Amino acid sequence: MPSILIASGAEFGRSNPEVLVWLRHAHANGSRVVSSCTGSFALAEAGLLDGRESTTHWAFVEPMRKEYPRIKVRGDRIIVTADEDGSIVTAGGATSWTDLVLYLVGRLVSQEEARRLAKMSLFDWRHQGQNPYARLVTKPQRDDAAIHAVQEWAADNYAAPDIVSAMTTQAQLSEKTFARRFKAATGFAPLEYVQRLRIEESKQLLETSDTPIEAIGEQVGYMDSASFRRLFKRYVGEIARRISPPLRRARSHQEIAELAEGCGLEPLASAAPGRYLSLMRSSKSTTAAPEIEALIALLAKVPGLGPRSARRAVLQLLKKKDALMVPLASALAEAAQKVRACSTCGALDTQDPCALCSKPERDDGLICVVAEVGDVWALERAGAFKGRYHVLGGLLSALDGVRPEDLRISKLVERASASGVREVILALSATVDGQTTGHYLAERLQPLGIIVSRLSHGVPVGGELDLLDDGTLFAALQSRRPS
Ligand SMILES: [Zn+2]
Repeated sequence: MPSILIASGAEFGRSNPEVLVWLRHAHANGSRVVSSCTGSFALAEAGLLDGRESTTHWAFVEPMRKEYPRIKVRGDRIIVTADEDGSIVTAGGATSWTDLVLYLVGRLVSQEEARRLAKMSLFDWRHQGQNPYARLVTKPQRDDAAIHAVQEWAADNYAAPDIVSAMTTQAQLSEKTFARRFKAATGFAPLEYVQRLRIEESKQLLETSDTPIEAIGEQVGYMDSASFRRLFKRYVGEIARRISPPLRRARSHQEIAELAEGCGLEPLASAAPGRYLSLMRSSKSTTAAPEIEALIALLAKVPGLGPRSARRAVLQLLKKKDALMVPLASALAEAAQKVRACSTCGALDTQDPCALCSKPERDDGLICVVAEVGDVWALERAGAFKGRYHVLGGLLSALDGVRPEDLRISKLVERASASGVREVILALSATVDGQTTGHYLAERLQPLGIIVSRLSHGVPVGGELDLLDDGTLFAALQSRRPS
């Protein structure tokens, strides 16, 4: 991944001053500079980390602090971004270079791709969807073994509902004794401790992902976004200002801006648990009627809509009851009742065979194979194809356990075997799964002696078909090549 790799070692910078000049120059000219392990010493010696945050191998945290007092060394972190636009990133000791690579893939490609890569490499990244950072938030204490065990447990389970009673159960102590010993050992009441874990986790998620703030709240254990926002403001007023706008995509950006606006920038509060509880209760009492909440919860499950957008949508629906809500309700009911999958091609319609399969003017000799119904719609929008379609219902995926028998492949072979079929066009995404599926289908169709072609021109690697513009799709179909 790096264009230029420099050997690490705490002494490297001092013995290679010309490299330091070059490093400064490269960074000033817009190069991204990252380090792993003791590589951060070269960056430190070059002055790139002055007045900034950094990390390094844990055994070198103290030496770095001593030698470079102007650097804020975060020994508790695996990845530290030194500047606002992520042009300098330092990683912790030894194997944290894998975290660094995944972080960079997450930044430069997508979080989705980083997760896929982690899964592919059997790298236990964000175990069970969680960051490992929560474990590092609070100082571990060893004086009280029972409480230490609960701390360990809470680091992995901080998002669990009714967390304090769960922790009490884990400790096998009475409620009162647990609360007292926990406070004595950690300096925090149990609930406040968990809040801190959750907030720290959300800070990490905000800084390292594009997840909207509502979804983050849910991930760390707050089902009610209003109380999460309130707590978040209280604990980390400064974070909203610290995260720079260019770092965030527009959506998160706006949310953070709103957050910052509402921030009184209170100091880290050590309020009693009772106060947080009452905050949560009061926020519960202001929420809408159960019918409305149920509607919001359902809408929030629609892809692309989080709880926040769902709430906004429901508000609009209720405002425009006659113009929007009633027609929408009947359209939904009608679609639910009438729309079904075509038994021939797998597309959705109110009739079976569907309109596309029934139209006599379409070419029976051409079958265009796509993964999803949405791809049929995209190709029809582009208007480039006049044959028949075949929807697989997904793509083969070793990672997600999708096997040939899970897709409509035997139906495709059956259709392609019919007399008169000249060509099968594989219009699949240019992703790993899309290509795997393409190869598999080409092999299955080969014995039939028909042409098997695939889209070529203009489908970018990693490209999802239904996200392409019509012109690109048109060109891709026109310049298809034999498989
Ligand atoms: Zn059909």
